[in-house]
Amino acid sequence: MTNNALIGEARSAGRGSLDELNGKRLLTQFGVAVPKSVVVQAGESLTPKLAGLEGPYVVKVMSQDILHKSDVGGVRVRMKDAAEVEAAISDMLARPEIAKARLDGFLVEEMAPAGQELVIGALRDPQFGPLVMVGLGGIFVEVLKDVAFRICPIERIDAVEMLDELKGKALLDGARGQAGVSREAIIETLLKIGSEQGLLMSLSEDIAEADINPLIVSQHGAVAVDARFILTAQGAQA
Ligand code: ADP
Ligand code: MG
Repeated sequence: MTNNALIGEARSAGRGSLDELNGKRLLTQFGVAVPKSVVVQAGESLTPKLAGLEGPYVVKVMSQDILHKSDVGGVRVRMKDAAEVEAAISDMLARPEIAKARLDGFLVEEMAPAGQELVIGALRDPQFGPLVMVGLGGIFVEVLKDVAFRICPIERIDAVEMLDELKGKALLDGARGQAGVSREAIIETLLKIGSEQGLLMSLSEDIAEADINPLIVSQHGAVAVDARFILTAQGAQA
């Protein structure tokens, strides 16, 4: 039996994973920053709902049928007001992949401060237990496989070394006229995920795979703007 209510609810609902909203709630429980957000439904009056959020906004489709939201036109960034958010939702509803999906609504969130996109991942090795992974976003992970892995639990020195192993690490220090980003913020995030007290060790029976993609890191901090957790089958029976 899981000791985490979010995971318990997902399992009771027969879901094998946490969706983006609940994944971000789980990250918040472990101190990882996520964008402030609200869930809205198509046709709902948006101005009051957006009152507590600072623009510009990001709009994302929420559906268990859609894994890669951008691939189906389900992510719009830099929407400046409620009218633009509303138009973005209408556009999304007109797309065939979105029209036919089971929709939970739309997530409207604040834009993270601009920065470097990283990926933090996790998977469970049958022998060694949870592994944590970090890489630079986009082609660095997908094409160049420029990633560093460690067996959990990790300590600060491991997180520092993981960043040093990345071939593209110069991007963290600033390249092509861009400011460097906070390595400390990345290290802290890796520890919140992979340390002895971190998410993976605390929930090692429950999490089969995790994917924060991307973590947007600026000079001042790191924000997880997309997250997905796949639950173990084993815990489902417990
Ligand atoms: P998916 O991976 O399902 O296509 P994401 O939630 O990762 O969707 O969004 C796609 C991209 O949009 C991200 O990689 C990031 O560049 C950008 N993005 C998403 N949410 C935010 C946000 N809150 N602030 C800034 N950029 C964002
Ligand atoms: Mg993503």
